Amino acid sequence: MNPAKRHEIFSRLHAANPHPATELEYSTPFELLVAVVLSAQATDKGVNLATRRLFALANTPEAICALGEARLAETIKTIGLYRSKAKHLIAACQMLIERHGSQVPAERAALEALPGVGRKTANVILNTAFGHPTMAVDTHIFRVANRTGLAPGKTVLEVEKKLLRTVPEEFLVDAHHWLILHGRYVCQARKPKCPECLIEDLCEYKYKTPAAPEAGKQKHSARTARSPTLRPNAGGGKR
Ligand code: SF4
Repeated sequence: MNPAKRHEIFSRLHAANPHPATELEYSTPFELLVAVVLSAQATDKGVNLATRRLFALANTPEAICALGEARLAETIKTIGLYRSKAKHLIAACQMLIERHGSQVPAERAALEALPGVGRKTANVILNTAFGHPTMAVDTHIFRVANRTGLAPGKTVLEVEKKLLRTVPEEFLVDAHHWLILHGRYVCQARKPKCPECLIEDLCEYKYKTPAAPEAGKQKHSARTARSPTLRPNAGGGKR
């Protein structure tokens, strides 16, 4: 994709949503870290329901350690993989207390050293809590980047690196949120909403969903399909 097209895509996403934000609810970097760790294979809505319960009880590393693994697991049990997530969170909280003065570190290596935190989670924290220009490629961004032609790639790391190289600098900090929201609500996996997509004319996807036919035309084509006599030149005569 050429740079002018790429710039136009992000200009439109920016114009439609100048201040994109995560849909996870949080009020501190630590709460965001907890929410992102819990969000693996869970919806943001489901995570928010669980963190509302959890943060009312405990929203610091010390308080979560004091809660203990069993009670933590019980509190977040509406979320998939809650047992292993509870285990990781307790271990991560202990490490935050011991090594980082109970603060969430703003460095990738320190974040990725925390139990339950991988590259994608670290990217989200660095971007959303600290404003770093990182690209946390999830299933939505991976799909949108490939379909549109913005950053085609076979692996999430390949897509991440291409996006970081090619997204215009002025859009880099927010690009991650625009692409996630676009994938979640418009460029959906099974049936992208191409006719209502604001970058439809710039997107390079070959199999865009067509616009619904107008009501009159739809009736006409249904009728013509049923009745051979109504088809143009149905009898096979001269035109
Ligand atoms: S035109 Fe369709 S495939 Fe392309 S970004 Fe929009 S919704 Fe996705």
